[in-house]
Amino acid sequence: MEPKQQLKNLPAMNDLLHLDKAAVWEQALGSTALKRIINHVLAATRQKIIRGQLQQVPDLAYFTAQIDQQIADNRVRALQPVINATGVILHTNLGRAKLAPEAQQALLAVNQHATNLEYDIPQEQRGDRYRAISQVISDLTGAEDALVVNNNAAAVMLVLSTLFQNKEVIISRGQMVEIGGSFRIPEIITATGGILKEVGTTNKTHVKDYQQAINENTGGILLVHTSNYKLIGFTETPAAKNLAQLAKQHQLPLVNDLGSGLLVDLSAYGLAEPTVMQELKASDLVMFSGDKLLGGPQAGIIAGKRKLIQQLKHNQLLRALRVDKATLAALTATLKLYQQGNPLEKIPVLRALTASQADLSQKAQQLKAQIEAKTTFTATVQSGTTAVGGGSLPDVALPTMLVGLQAPLSTAALTRALNYAPFPLIPRVNHDQVLLDMRTVATAELDSVIDNLQQIKF
Ligand SMILES: *Cc1c(COP(=O)(O)O)cnc(C)c1O
Repeated sequence: MEPKQQLKNLPAMNDLLHLDKAAVWEQALGSTALKRIINHVLAATRQKIIRGQLQQVPDLAYFTAQIDQQIADNRVRALQPVINATGVILHTNLGRAKLAPEAQQALLAVNQHATNLEYDIPQEQRGDRYRAISQVISDLTGAEDALVVNNNAAAVMLVLSTLFQNKEVIISRGQMVEIGGSFRIPEIITATGGILKEVGTTNKTHVKDYQQAINENTGGILLVHTSNYKLIGFTETPAAKNLAQLAKQHQLPLVNDLGSGLLVDLSAYGLAEPTVMQELKASDLVMFSGDKLLGGPQAGIIAGKRKLIQQLKHNQLLRALRVDKATLAALTATLKLYQQGNPLEKIPVLRALTASQADLSQKAQQLKAQIEAKTTFTATVQSGTTAVGGGSLPDVALPTMLVGLQAPLSTAALTRALNYAPFPLIPRVNHDQVLLDMRTVATAELDSVIDNLQQIKF
């Protein structure tokens, strides 16, 4: 039969709404979403017939399976927790930092009750939403004052748009980076009303390059930590401490986009990233993310000179970039763990970063034993390396331990089964092997890994 003739035999929407599983589907999705999915399946089937990929109209079992597949796609696409077994600690696609239990609790509590978000209890009057958090950030970092916005991109935009309207912003050609998600420093300077004043070359910029660029229309100096790439070889870019004097002499603000807000020195772990405190010593303002190495919720933190922070507070843009109580609560609780002095144990990002190979090996052996006792898979334990991610420490290869899964399934089929598991699991695939990286799978998640594997049939 001609494809055109075949199309007449396609079932109608109403036929598919009377399939055996329709009541269950409708219960789960509601009728609008179900009809949209059925329409999609009908349209896709029509296309397959027209293109000759299907010789005739398939039976109802085919439609049931296609609709089930669409519903499964919908289920896994909805925002939900997943198990990060990739080994990349700050995985941008997987939501970056996991919060500490204390921060999770704080998040819940402020959403369950009313809060003193903008109420000053001691004064019994309207308060400033940033007051308490600014104090915590200042105490921790030594900054005079601080402000919190939605993310670090917003922090950079707020600073540039407040301080550098119609003024020249001096920046090294080696720091004109793209951060990801099309956030490009040169474009941001222009978009916020500043005038880009590039100095130096890609690989080398000297203090005198900055000095020669200063004129009566200079607004300030912008440093950008090239956190997601590394220049190696014949390179030089002055650090904040080398530029501080020049900036001071000309009364220009030196603002420093740090990216990852590292609050503890990790050089003992071979992780050489400047800390916020070090950079603050020489910069007038530093900007950093809340959900990278700091290990808190998505936020952008600006810390530094009080006079400049006050200027930022008067920018209308702040109203659009301001954070909600949930962010403030989770950030406050995370920072409190630093104040209490044991962040490496309490903050999941730092714990994952500094976990010893011996601990990871023990976790891997424990998982392998459980897999072999409770599931039909077999497992191997092997060592490897992984990355920090999130544009942090791009040249660091962290040692790690991996559990390899073995089953009579193709790598693609096994990966897909794990992705669609009850607690979706994102593994690492390397050399056609499905691997679970122990640096990012929490001990508390091991039971869910086993539950998932028990659901996969082969
Ligand atoms: C990550 C990063 C940003 C953007 O921070 P978000 O919190 O993702 O908005 C900006 N600048 C640098 C240097 C970064 O590393």
